[in-house]
Amino acid sequence: MTLSKAVSMKYNKTIEKCSNEEVYFALLDMVKQLADEKCSNEGKKKLYYISAEFLIGKLLSNNLINLGVYDSVKSELEASGKSMAEIEEIEPEPSLGNGGLGRLAACFLDSIATLGLNGDGVGLNYHLGLFKQVFDRNLQKETPNPWIEQQSWLTKTDVTNTVNFGGFAVQSRMYDIDVVGYNNRTTKLHLFDIESVDEGLVGDTIDFDKSQIEKNLTLFLYPDDSDDKGRLLRVYQQYFMVCNGAKLILDEAVAKGSDLHDLADYAAVQINDTHPSMVIPELIRQLMERGILMDEAIEIVSKVCAYTNHTILAEALEKWPMDFLNKAVPQLMPIIRELDSRIRLKVSDESTYIIKDGLVHMAHMDIHYGYSVNGVAYLHTEILKNSELNNFYKLYPEKFNNKTNGITFRRWLMACNPELSNLVTELIGDGWKKDADELEKLGKYIDDDAVLDKVLAVKDQKKRELAAYLKNKQGMDINENSIFDIQVKRLHEYKRQQMNALYVIHKYFEIKEGKLPKTPITVFFGAKAAPAYVIAKDIIHLILCLQQIINNDPQVSPYLKVFMVENYNVTMAEKMIPACDISEQISLASKEASGTGNMKFMLNGAVTLGTMDGANVEIAKLVGDDNIYTFGEDSQTVINRYERGDYKSITYYENNENLKRAVDFIVSNEVMKVGCRENLERLYNELLNKDWFMTFPDFDAYVETREKAYDDYADRKAWAKKMLVNISKAGFFSSDRTIRQYNEDIWKL
Ligand SMILES: *Cc1c(COP(=O)(O)O)cnc(C)c1O
Repeated sequence: MTLSKAVSMKYNKTIEKCSNEEVYFALLDMVKQLADEKCSNEGKKKLYYISAEFLIGKLLSNNLINLGVYDSVKSELEASGKSMAEIEEIEPEPSLGNGGLGRLAACFLDSIATLGLNGDGVGLNYHLGLFKQVFDRNLQKETPNPWIEQQSWLTKTDVTNTVNFGGFAVQSRMYDIDVVGYNNRTTKLHLFDIESVDEGLVGDTIDFDKSQIEKNLTLFLYPDDSDDKGRLLRVYQQYFMVCNGAKLILDEAVAKGSDLHDLADYAAVQINDTHPSMVIPELIRQLMERGILMDEAIEIVSKVCAYTNHTILAEALEKWPMDFLNKAVPQLMPIIRELDSRIRLKVSDESTYIIKDGLVHMAHMDIHYGYSVNGVAYLHTEILKNSELNNFYKLYPEKFNNKTNGITFRRWLMACNPELSNLVTELIGDGWKKDADELEKLGKYIDDDAVLDKVLAVKDQKKRELAAYLKNKQGMDINENSIFDIQVKRLHEYKRQQMNALYVIHKYFEIKEGKLPKTPITVFFGAKAAPAYVIAKDIIHLILCLQQIINNDPQVSPYLKVFMVENYNVTMAEKMIPACDISEQISLASKEASGTGNMKFMLNGAVTLGTMDGANVEIAKLVGDDNIYTFGEDSQTVINRYERGDYKSITYYENNENLKRAVDFIVSNEVMKVGCRENLERLYNELLNKDWFMTFPDFDAYVETREKAYDDYADRKAWAKKMLVNISKAGFFSSDRTIRQYNEDIWKL
C-alpha cells in the first residue's frame, strides 16, 4: 500500500491535490489497514497493563516508522510538494496522561508489541484529557484539551457493558487504538468510555458539574480532588476502569478455554500505581458472580495481579474513605472488608492493615493480594524494602523486585532525532534498533575527531530547529549558540524547579556584577502544575516573572535567558530533548522513584546535571564520573534528616549570602512589578519557613557543579566525548530490556 493509493481510494485524487488534512486522514486509514494486516500474538496467557494514564504522544510518525514505511511515505510526500513535518502538525496529541507514569505505560506497550508478547493496555478514554496549560499574566491557567476528532486513531468496538454504581448504572463501550511494534506484531490499547458522556458540561475552563457522573465520568483525567465531589468522581472513574477491565479479562480467558479456576494460566494483570487497585476486589467479585467461591476467588486473583509502586511520597499513596466506596461502589466494600479481616487474623503488624481509621489503603491491598511488588529503579526499590515498605518487605521478601524503567528508542531516538539515529547507524550498523546494547559499539569512536565533530554538528542542528520552532510558536528569541540547559517534567516541589530558579537569580546577579560566563546560557523550563497545587503554580509564576525580567534586561540577556514553554507534552519533549546540552535532574535524593526524562536526554547526547536519585544513580554508574555532574546530599542523609525532623531552612538562609540574595529577590520590587504579591510572598514564606524538599542545603553544591559543567562545555572536543559516552551507555535504558525483565520475572508469558 502506498500513500498515493490510499489517497486515491479515499478522495479519488492525487496527493498534490489534497489538503494537508486530507493527507493526514488518508494516512490514518493506511496505517490502520497496515496494522490490521500484522498479526498479534494469540498465545494462551495474556498480560493486561492497567493504568489510569497512557501518555502515548502523537502516533503517526511512530507508527510509520514501526511499520517500516516512514521513508517511503516521506519521499512520496516530498515528491508531491508536501512536508512530513507539516502533516505531523495536523495530528492532535492525545491527552491521556500526566507525566512519567503515563509515558512509561506508553513505552511499555511499544516494547510489548515489538517483542511480540501477548499483552494489551487497559485504560480510560478521557475526552478532554488532563488539561491544556496556557500562560496568562505570568500565571498558569488550565483549559480543556479535547483531542478526539471525527477521524482519529480510536476504533469503536462492539464490546459494551453495564457498570453498576451505588444507585445507578452507566453503559460502557470499548474503543481500541492499535499499538504497532517495530517491524513486528501489533497489540492494542483498550480505552473504555461511557456512552452518555457530555462534553457540553464544560466551557472554557476545566470547571464542570462534578455530580453528574453519567455525563462527566470520562471527561477529564485527574479531576480536581481538592473537594469531596472531585475525590468521589475519581473513585467512580477508577471503578469504571477496573469493572470493564475485569470483565474483558474474564471474557477473553473464557473464550480461550479457561474454566476460570485456571485464570492464572490465561492472564497476568500489572497494576500501574494504585489508581487501578480496585481491580483486585472487582476480579474477586466477578469470579464469584461466575460461580467461584470466595476463598478460591481470592486465591486465584492473588496469582494474577502484580503491583508497580511509583512513589514514596506519602501523599501520593491513595487512601479512600470507606464512606466514598460505600456510596460509589457498595458491592466492593464487603469484599474489601473480608480481604482486610483475613490480614488481621494472619498479621500482627497493624501498620499493614488495609482498613485503618475509616480509610482503605489501596497499596496495602495490592501488596497483600498481589504476587509481585516492584519498584522502578534500583535505589527506589532499595528504599521501598528498607524504609517505606519495610513492614511489608518483612512479611513478603519474595514478592519484592526491581524493574528499572526504560524508554522506547523508536520514539525517543529514531523518530525525534533521525539525524543522530542515522549517524549511529552509519557508525555501527542498525542492529541497535532491535538490540539497544549494541550502542556500546560507539565506544570505539571516543577519540575519533571526525566522529566527535559529527556528533556536535547534529546537536547544533537540533538546537537550531528547536529555536526556530519556539520562535514560531511562542515568539522566543533564542541564541542558537548558547548552552541549552533544560528542565522539563511535571512541576513538583520534590523535582525542585524552585532550586533551578534560585540558581537563575544567582546567575543574574553575578552577570550584573560583571562575572560573565564563557558561553551564553539559555535555561529552558517546561512543566504543568496540578490545578490545585498552589505552591507549584507559584513556582511557575516566579519562573515566568524571571523570564520577563531577565530576557528584557539588556545587560544580562546577552549572557542569560530564561524560557518556559507552554503546555509541555510529548510533542514538545520530542523537540526539546534532542536539542539539550545539559539535562537537569535535580530532585531531592530519595524522592524521584526513577525518572525517565533523564534516560531520553542521555540517549540524545545531553549530559546530566543531577542528584544521586532514582535512575540517575544507574546512569552515573554506567557513564562514570567524567561524564555526569552529580551533586548534593545523598538519599540516606536526606532520609535521616526527615527522621530527625530538625530541618530549619532559615538557618541556611541566614548563613549563606548568595542564597539569601536569591531568595530575597523573589519578593523584591523588581519581581513584584511584573508579578503578583500574593503568589510571590507565599512562595518566599514557604521556602523560608518550610522548604520541605530541602533546596537550601543543596544550593551551594548545585551552583558549584553547574558552574563546572558550564566551564567544561567550552572545551568542545572534551564535551563531545561526554556526549558520545552517554549515548553509547544508554542501551540499558531501552524499555525492551525492562519489558523482557517483567516478562521473565513476573508475567511469564
Ligand atoms: C518522559 C516524560 C515525562 C517524565 O519526565 P521525568 O523527568 O522523568 O519526570 C513527563 N512528561 C513527558 C511529556 C515526558 O515525555
